Amino acid sequence: MNKPDRQAPAVAIAVIGAGIAGLTVAATLRKIGARVEIYEQAEAFTPVGAGVQLTPNAMKVLAGLGQAEHIRRVGFTPDVGYNREWDTGEITYLHPMGSAIEQRFGAPDISLHRAQLHAALASINPPASMHFNKRLMGLDRAGGGGLRLSFADGSKACADAVVGADGVHSTVLDILFGHGRPRFTGQVAYRAVYPTAYATLRY
Ligand SMILES: Cc1cc2nc3c(=O)[nH]c(=O)nc-3n(C[C@H](O)[C@H](O)[C@H](O)COP(=O)(O)OP(=O)(O)OC[C@H]3O[C@@H](n4cnc5c(N)ncnc54)[C@H](O)[C@@H]3O)c2cc1C
Repeated sequence: MNKPDRQAPAVAIAVIGAGIAGLTVAATLRKIGARVEIYEQAEAFTPVGAGVQLTPNAMKVLAGLGQAEHIRRVGFTPDVGYNREWDTGEITYLHPMGSAIEQRFGAPDISLHRAQLHAALASINPPASMHFNKRLMGLDRAGGGGLRLSFADGSKACADAVVGADGVHSTVLDILFGHGRPRFTGQVAYRAVYPTAYATLRY
């Protein structure tokens, strides 16, 4: 039986995009020994987005990354979820949340601002692994079985594997499959941000 080669260098993985998915997958891959570099097109992180709901399965991933307690502290645990008619406000469904969800699924359901989640995920990735101003433009096979990445600023990088975490307008998806453009379904949901003090209002 072959013994594992303890001297083998760690696999080098390039993650494209430093959003929620990219930062999560990078931290997770690093935990299992991969060398991970993250390439992000933006110049820097800015606090964008609105409310994000983290269901228990997501909270279990964050617990594995050591972030569950921090997220619980900065987030909000709703007692109940309301479904209402859009025009009359009539309640059509009351969904028990809070401790009911935690007891049933073994992890809480937390709501928080996307920027808080993003900051928590950024904090567990070494700053030296994050490369800003790197908009991926091209991806092809290099000699020796690796992959070569080309960026808009003319620079290049190599990796054993690439993870496309570059969002809904994914360049990686476009390069690999040529149909990265999202299809508008005609459905729109409006969202808003308001002070958590209002969260206790019942009307
Ligand atoms: C207002 C709002 C509220 C939401 N609420 C919820 C919610 O309650 N629950 C929930 O589950 N989901 C929610 N979502 C959806 C959720 O936020 C997204 O599904 C999630 O953020 C997508 O993460 P991502 O990392 O795949 O993409 P993104 O967060 O879009 O990140 C992609 C990153 O890739 C970078 N990038 C793009 N192209 C390139 C390139 N060529 N080269 C290098 N970098 C590139 C981008 O700059 C970006 O930083 C919400 C979304 C919005 C907008």
